[in-house]
Amino acid sequence: MNINQLVRNNILELQPYISFRDQNQFNAPILLDANESPFGEYNRYPDSTQMELKNKLADIKNVKPSQVAIGNGSDELIDLIIKVFCEPKKDSILMMDPSFAMYAFYASINENSVVKLELNENFEILKEDFLRVAKDFQSKVFFLCSPNNPTGNTIDDIEFYIQNFDGIVVVDEAYIEFSNQQSSIELLKKYPNLIVLQTFSKAWGMAGARVGSAFASEYIINLINTVKAPYNVNSLSQKLALQKLDNLEEFEKQVEYIIKERNWLEKQFQDILCIKKIFPTQANFFLIECNNAEKVYQNLLYNEILTSKRFPGIKNCIRINIGNRQQNTKLITLLKNIDV
Ligand code: PMP
Repeated sequence: MNINQLVRNNILELQPYISFRDQNQFNAPILLDANESPFGEYNRYPDSTQMELKNKLADIKNVKPSQVAIGNGSDELIDLIIKVFCEPKKDSILMMDPSFAMYAFYASINENSVVKLELNENFEILKEDFLRVAKDFQSKVFFLCSPNNPTGNTIDDIEFYIQNFDGIVVVDEAYIEFSNQQSSIELLKKYPNLIVLQTFSKAWGMAGARVGSAFASEYIINLINTVKAPYNVNSLSQKLALQKLDNLEEFEKQVEYIIKERNWLEKQFQDILCIKKIFPTQANFFLIECNNAEKVYQNLLYNEILTSKRFPGIKNCIRINIGNRQQNTKLITLLKNIDV
């Protein structure tokens, strides 16, 4: 597959903006080049190439630094990927339904249409549906979310979708750390049309800092860097992400805690009358079918627990995030007191 044929023509002609300072390794500690203030700790612009963070991530993920892009959350990377490949008013994206809302949000902003691939009752993709939709609509980018939000399940046989799609496949791994699925980063060696998204917002506990990463071929990463805002990730967030990556022990402990709570909650849910079905999850949340979702949602809210309404889109379902033991215990106590 010739990836450059998938890229918008106007983007092909552009070069990434890298600040004069970041392009060169000057030995000049007195910086009078960027109209900054001489005062304060954060007076300098951030590194527009995010080199230290890319080096560290590349090392951990076993790819080259030139195969890593950093975004203001993976949300920004979703937008940038659409900008690189999808011609406004002409091209479409393909996404699973239900899946993460931001793919359609950014497609709309960029004036790209959205083709939805309906999942079956277990929220799996039917391969024959995929093949038909991929052929009929010729979408430029397929967003494949695994584990999927808001359903929580992983998608099997990801390689099949990469092999059978004549465009870019973005595997969104926002929740991969909570799952037993292997990252698709391994597959980058084999497939030039693959992009893998990960984030510091979930397992790394850094949603407020807004740091996401994309892994792909050098060619695709260069295109993403071309359309990004030069200073898209601030210095504090770059520094915080580097610190987190230095403390893998804390990260592993927190992921382990959440998985333990997930198992505990799953058991507790079994005896609760207002719950009709718990969908299997590999993420840090549960999709739950209730007998009366509105009643459950309102009751929890009245008792100071905000959950995510997924109905009427997904009939009678709410999505509940795994919290700490105290929060989870309160949740279970409240649920037990809701009658059918
Ligand atoms: N992908 C998925 C599947 C998500 O659920 C989320 C956050 N809800 C994101 C991407 C975006 O994450 P962030 O922008 O915080 O990195």
